[in-house]
Amino acid sequence: MKFHIITIFPEIFDSYFNESIIKRAQEKHQIIIKIYNLRNWTCDKHKTVDDAPYGGGAGMVMKIEPLYNALNDIKSQIINNKSQINSKKQDLNIKTILLSASGKKWDQQTAQKYSQRLDEIILICGRYEGVDERITHFINEEISVGDYVLTGGEIPAMIIVDSITRLLPDVLGNNASIMEESHSIPNILEYPQYTRPEIFKINKKKYPVPPILLSGDHQKIEKWREKNKQKQ
Ligand code: SAM
Repeated sequence: MKFHIITIFPEIFDSYFNESIIKRAQEKHQIIIKIYNLRNWTCDKHKTVDDAPYGGGAGMVMKIEPLYNALNDIKSQIINNKSQINSKKQDLNIKTILLSASGKKWDQQTAQKYSQRLDEIILICGRYEGVDERITHFINEEISVGDYVLTGGEIPAMIIVDSITRLLPDVLGNNASIMEESHSIPNILEYPQYTRPEIFKINKKKYPVPPILLSGDHQKIEKWREKNKQKQ
């Protein structure tokens, strides 16, 4: 799986993508993440990516030309790479996504579907008051990560990369853990988890682990876990 991220703040991704599971997935070539600075597709000396909205109003809007040019170049690169590696696969499954507070809500089912079906994902991170609406002619969909407004699309892009990557085969140490996790079945949440100590004592109060989990009886533990899966 290859992720292409278009942003005006490329450094934002350095820390998150260079730690833990996402770092290892890149090292093992299970994913490739390419970050593109949108300002490289501007044509003026100030590298302008935004302008005032038609009709007036607060804030600035991201211009269509740099985004269109960036998308065009990235898509051509993808097609070139495909022909260079002489891929036997007929068509690459590519999706271009604009991160947007008014988009379709991201969820675990969509993450599962995309992890299985897509080869490359292009993510456009908006900033300011958003992106010139004409971008919708050149993308496949708009995705929102929740009903709230963030300053930019970079955190949503990280959420999409992260939630898809951990579902790819062999990215997590134990593939089975994906099946047990919250939302892998719609509206079902994972059972409660505990680790040492058996009894946590604080302020003269005791917080014990449910005794069944210490019993060693795997059938009973399974039953307890099933019963304690929360339904939304
Ligand atoms: N004026 C826009 C509105 O009311 O919907 C909000 C723009 S927001 C300040 C700037 C950018 O952050 C958006 O273009 C989008 O890329 C990103 N963004 C903000 N909230 C988001 C969300 N919930 N999901 C996905 N992207 C979001």
